[in-house]
Amino acid sequence: MKRIAVLGSTGSIGTQTLDVVRSSPDLFTVTAIACGSRIELFEEQIREFLPEMAAVYDEAAAAVLAERVKDLPVRVLSGMDGLIEVCGASPSDIVVTAIVGMIGIRPTIAAIEAGKDIALANKETCVTAGHLIMPLAKEKGVNILPVDSEHSAIFQALMGRHGSKIAKILLTASGGPFRHASPEELRNVTVAQALAHPTWNMGAKITIDSATMVNKGLEVIEACRLFDVTPDQVQVVLQPQSIIHSAVQYEDGSVIAQLGPSDMRIPIQFALTWPDHLPSPAEPLDFTKLSGIEIGVPRNDVFRGLPLAYEAIRAGGLMTTVYNAANEWANAAFRQGRIGFLDIYEVIEDAMNTADVIPHPSVEEILDVQGAINRRCEVKYG
Ligand code: NDP
Ligand code: MG
Repeated sequence: MKRIAVLGSTGSIGTQTLDVVRSSPDLFTVTAIACGSRIELFEEQIREFLPEMAAVYDEAAAAVLAERVKDLPVRVLSGMDGLIEVCGASPSDIVVTAIVGMIGIRPTIAAIEAGKDIALANKETCVTAGHLIMPLAKEKGVNILPVDSEHSAIFQALMGRHGSKIAKILLTASGGPFRHASPEELRNVTVAQALAHPTWNMGAKITIDSATMVNKGLEVIEACRLFDVTPDQVQVVLQPQSIIHSAVQYEDGSVIAQLGPSDMRIPIQFALTWPDHLPSPAEPLDFTKLSGIEIGVPRNDVFRGLPLAYEAIRAGGLMTTVYNAANEWANAAFRQGRIGFLDIYEVIEDAMNTADVIPHPSVEEILDVQGAINRRCEVKYG
């Protein structure tokens, strides 16, 4: 029985993780869960999975929940301390980091410090604090198992390498809903249009990031962190059907790719059952129904989220935090109707142009810079 803690159990990755658990009750048990504030669904999850600990970040919502579940033997926790306890002090073997944003940094570090494996979905933590968590995981003997479909694919393509060098990683991207749009059309994109992703059903923040291609930028940085490759070794290619989830090219020119349906339950489950592939709740890929697997090249002149990410990872140090933090602010501001779609790139570029690069930032420096970027953006664009 693998004991699982889910940080962000009410979201897209979180609910699909619970679906995986539901389909293999003999393999998995949920011992701790955490959410931000949506306690209705959270209460249902507590009643179904009976975790020992449940943390709600919002203090007032946590108090309401504690009252509602007082008939159950669950410890209700709150705030950042609650998230850290769910990750670090729960009786779990692996923590699924399904929270969105840099708020996941401290809980993820707590889980690694406590020797728990990480099923990593929360890419913002990897992008901003990867230089801290990867060596820490090595030191503590902790496995970082990627949940992001592309990184799960790369991880699988690397499993049979026997020490062979990677020539390049081929990181696939669907291209999002505006793959063919002109810059003029992009200027007037609405939030509803940007939220209609052609192949994946995901949380709001990552769906917008996919439309801007910032998600792919974050994933380039994530790949460099997870697989210890240089940015020059990561090539982004468009694969609009989201069937080829990514690939590795070796020095002899051969390419090993991982294919599957667009169903996140497969990479989530693989992170939980690694190194084994076990029966899953997902529909298997039917090769006889595949048609027109297209490959294309991203339009970097239009979707500037991607080239800016290469700039950030090449600059190194704090710059990936600047890229990510500015995007977190801009993504939320776009969803709130405060800025336009193309302004997202302006916000990121401006933050990067005015940032001081610290080579090896600490958690405190990372979070301080996030605070400073938020304040600056509020004044400048808010
Ligand atoms: P969602 O927005 O659907 O879910 C976010 C989860 O995090 C919710 O459970 C939410 O709780 C919780 N949360 C938000 N803020 C806090 C907080 N302050 N404290 C505690 N919990 C909080 O996001 P996704 O599931 O789409 O994405 C999660 C992560 O996985 C992101 O980093 C994303 O980039 C990555 N990812 C997602 C994929 C997908 O298919 N969705 C694919 C690949 C990667 P509440 O409901 O209470 O707000
Ligand atoms: Mg992805």
